[in-house]
Amino acid sequence: MSRYAYVNGRYLPFREAKVHVEDRGYQFADGVYEVCEVRGGRLIDERRHIERLKRSLGELRIPLPMSVKALGVVLREVVARNRIGYGLVYLQITRGVARRDHAFPSPPVAPTMVVTARPLNLKRNEALAAAGIAVISVADNRWGRVDIKSVGLLPNVLARQAAIEQGARDAWFVDKDGVVMEASSANAWIVTAEGALVTRHADHAILRGITRAVVVDAVKGQGLSIEERAFTLQEAFAAREAFITSATQLVLPVVKVDGHVIGDGKPGPVATALRREFYRYAETG
Ligand code: PMP
Repeated sequence: MSRYAYVNGRYLPFREAKVHVEDRGYQFADGVYEVCEVRGGRLIDERRHIERLKRSLGELRIPLPMSVKALGVVLREVVARNRIGYGLVYLQITRGVARRDHAFPSPPVAPTMVVTARPLNLKRNEALAAAGIAVISVADNRWGRVDIKSVGLLPNVLARQAAIEQGARDAWFVDKDGVVMEASSANAWIVTAEGALVTRHADHAILRGITRAVVVDAVKGQGLSIEERAFTLQEAFAAREAFITSATQLVLPVVKVDGHVIGDGKPGPVATALRREFYRYAETG
């Protein structure tokens, strides 16, 4: 299937979809992104993803290049042109093209906006969730504002690569005190031996996941208690269950952390139920 991308006002076949060599996203990672799941051709949790996009852009003082309504039209058009039933839509906005100089261009330049979409394999993802995944821990060497969803993802890239090279699927960033921050592209959760659901509080040191927020609502909606607090790797080893959440992985059970088997080594009932119930709490556009 030929693929199409939106680049600065035009829908282009992939091989013609290009940005300039002096784009500040390319040179400085001076830009932000969002990823939305697409299901039945419809965007999941679009409103919350756009809210977070606006916040990330605001933190970097990059203007939104078009109205939220127009943005929705572009996202849908890219999904439709690529005939995505189940998959993802990716949106990236950078500060734009300017002669390479660290400070913001003055006068400001127009931001660069790119949207792509691609299908995901539902069967493969469900099989992965049914088996559960292994994760490793890596030292969190990221900058202090990972709440901004910037395209500067080198530590995340290296963490994921390390996981794969060690036979795992993902990596958990752990700080110097042994506290689990989040996964390389997902939030981290445990169910303690006492049955408490725990995920780290969202501040500047983790990304405030949209899926995390939906799962928090789901947990509260079911009258379960949740603790938004720091938890250590040691606590995770002793947990009854563990899982990660992200827009394209939903609730994905973790059955091994640094080689320690979690619970009985199978996806647990809490993670399984939250995955099943997810769309009751998500917004389908
Ligand atoms: N943390 C990080 C570092 C991520 O990259 C992502 C995915 N973009 C998440 C958490 C999960 O966020 P969301 O649920 O909005 O996909």
